[in-house]
Amino acid sequence: MKEAAVVIIGAGAAGLMCAAQVAAAGREVLVLDHANKPGKKILMSGGGRCNFTNYYVEPNRYLSHNPHFCKSALSQYTQWDFIALVDKHAIPYHEKKDGQLFCDNKASDILNMLLAECETSGARIQLSTAVDGIESLPAGGFLIQTSKAGQEGADAVAIKAQQLVIATGGPSIPTLGATGFGYKVARQFGLDVYEPVAALVPFTLTSELKTLSSALSGNACQVSVSCNGQSFMDDMLFTHRGLSGPTMLQISSYWQPGDALSIDLLPGLDAAEQLRADQHQNPKQQLKTWLGHLLSQKISEQWLPFMGFQPEASLASLNGKQMDAIAMALHQWQVKPAGTEGYRTAEVALGGVNTDELSSKTMQCKRVAGLYFIGEVMDVTGHLGGFNFQWAWSSAWAAAQHLAQQG
Ligand SMILES: Cc1cc2nc3c(=O)[nH]c(=O)nc-3n(C[C@H](O)[C@H](O)[C@H](O)COP(=O)(O)OP(=O)(O)OC[C@H]3O[C@@H](n4cnc5c(N)ncnc54)[C@H](O)[C@@H]3O)c2cc1C
Repeated sequence: MKEAAVVIIGAGAAGLMCAAQVAAAGREVLVLDHANKPGKKILMSGGGRCNFTNYYVEPNRYLSHNPHFCKSALSQYTQWDFIALVDKHAIPYHEKKDGQLFCDNKASDILNMLLAECETSGARIQLSTAVDGIESLPAGGFLIQTSKAGQEGADAVAIKAQQLVIATGGPSIPTLGATGFGYKVARQFGLDVYEPVAALVPFTLTSELKTLSSALSGNACQVSVSCNGQSFMDDMLFTHRGLSGPTMLQISSYWQPGDALSIDLLPGLDAAEQLRADQHQNPKQQLKTWLGHLLSQKISEQWLPFMGFQPEASLASLNGKQMDAIAMALHQWQVKPAGTEGYRTAEVALGGVNTDELSSKTMQCKRVAGLYFIGEVMDVTGHLGGFNFQWAWSSAWAAAQHLAQQG
């Protein structure tokens, strides 16, 4: 039997961050992961450039059944702390927009930084290792049954740990090694888990809406989208299967099956007023040309007939009622998605381990001493924009401070 003071399951964003911090405090740390490489989601993130944090991290950028839970960890280890770490490793980065920080080069800069921190502090990482079972020991601590990943039972080794950290993330993108393992462990120990739901995910459409989005596939425009009391303004992208782009990913976290999205295709403009003004200025202009200047010609030509408007109608031919109807349709386009793309493409999962089960200061289970959950596995989900990684860093750091004192 092997022994390690602290075992962390999951060599992703939160697991690596936690491992480096705990080992730096002098404790023996072993990180286990079933994947053959660490931090696969980090490498894929931010289009390969990792949006590693955001200048404007606030608790209101997170969804959770307990919106207060994230406050303590986010204030213990802030975006400025992580930026200082990035600066220490001389990683070049830039703000893309709205405070979103991306690597200038590659996402591997962030992964290599975490691996370097683990190496310097002496944290060990053991890959290609399946965790076949976990039990708590009567005298305290945990026994973790492991074997070679992909060949469960082969080369079986039991590892004894004083404390156990679950950092196995959420189930989105299974091809990257994502699993619902953390939820299984939580349930095994009698903890409550909110059923996970794919979030930050594109929408799928059916029937005529799908035909429209498919015809416009690859076209994007800036919109404001609202659903269930939340609104986001950013780009929307038409795809062969439905609607994507940052606005759609953001609102997907608030959408429930059956809900309609209200899309404002001309945010910040009073379309009715503009139509009336342009009718005087340019009465011969066709409706499709008018809208083409405001959106794009392609979108205008497809969208107007789809909505039942005459693209070739001159502005002069429109009466007040028709102009109001066009303006209303542009500002409040009601779209009912058929569903989402699901875990295949979702960036995160809503739900997870009920935060009522955990200490918001240390991430330790209230009911199971020595068991910690960090990162995406718990019911804290950030908006798009670097907030999910910041949660991984902050929750990992908070747990590490407590683990450092348990030796
Ligand atoms: C395509 C994509 C792009 C993203 N881009 C961004 C971005 O730019 N900015 C941002 O803030 N967030 C982004 N995210 C979200 C972000 O990647 C996650 O929120 C973050 O990685 C969560 O960290 P974690 O440590 O909790 O989990 P992960 O980083 O997912 O790590 C979990 C680890 O646990 C391992 N594991 C899982 N199951 C088991 C098991 N049964 N046994 C052993 N090991 C296991 C996995 O192999 C993995 O290494 C993106 C996500 C995706 C999918």
